[in-house]
Amino acid sequence: MTIPMVYNQLISLDNSNVSLQIKREDLIHQFISGNKFRKLKYNIEAAQLQKARQLLTFGGAFSNHIAAVAFAGKTYHFETIGIIRGDEIENHEELNPTLQFAKDCGMQFEFVTRSDYRLKESEAFIESLNHKFGDFYLIPEGGTNDLAIKGCEEILTEDDSDFDYICCSIGTGGTFLGICNSLKPNQKLLGFPALKGDFIENQMKEKAKNDQWKIISEYHFGGYGKVTPDLIDFINQFKADYKVPLDPIYTGKMVYGVMDLIRNNYFKVGTKILLIHTGGLQGIQGMNNSLKHKKWTLIN
Ligand SMILES: *Cc1c(COP(=O)(O)O)cnc(C)c1O
Repeated sequence: MTIPMVYNQLISLDNSNVSLQIKREDLIHQFISGNKFRKLKYNIEAAQLQKARQLLTFGGAFSNHIAAVAFAGKTYHFETIGIIRGDEIENHEELNPTLQFAKDCGMQFEFVTRSDYRLKESEAFIESLNHKFGDFYLIPEGGTNDLAIKGCEEILTEDDSDFDYICCSIGTGGTFLGICNSLKPNQKLLGFPALKGDFIENQMKEKAKNDQWKIISEYHFGGYGKVTPDLIDFINQFKADYKVPLDPIYTGKMVYGVMDLIRNNYFKVGTKILLIHTGGLQGIQGMNNSLKHKKWTLIN
């Protein structure tokens, strides 16, 4: 997998004394977007080396990772199996846009209950999958493993050495850890979890190779996949102002958080900040379907 050039876009803020740019990793690929491309790169290479026939992975029904693996499988000639969490789609006559896309790419699904899904890393469960599907190359939930972290070490380049702060969203933390490994000594990384809970900070503490980072945990908006009208308005306004679309699950929350910190003078005058746009735009359609249901404003 070769990665196309990514550029940093300037975000011109009025009445502010910090400078802000956003790395448009969302433009890497329409479907294997942003960090999911980075995380798959070395895993696809490993699967090719092992002459694997199938890729098997796990995810929720709206998962960017599921969409990315399905498309990567189609592109690089692997069969793909998605183990999908959730009872809400048990009688799945109608697939949501993410799963429909994955299916169109040839992905085969196995729907499991939330309680079974929790056991997904147990030996017995993997063995039962082996029994059912034959041999496969296993990619963990969210795509995070050592090869994924290695891929994410390539997000920052020498051209980015001047930034004081790098900001990214956190799901499983693979992207955060990869960026953390490639920080220059003068740089700091801020991670914005898209989900609720202190466990993230502890996990990162265990795995990070330096302490040039901080977790900002106030911008999860109620938890994973949760949104508020305020967040949706922010995403729409940001796109109108800067022509940068943000997704509601990850990047919207992170950018909202950074803007809030800037407003509250968290950063010193003259600080140079780089936001990482990790992609995820395929999830907007699915989110809009549920917003329509609630009669809320939609994401433009
Ligand atoms: C998956 C995803 C993340 C989270 O990445 P992790 O490596 O799991 O922390 C962030 N942003 C977007 C858009 C994603 O799809």
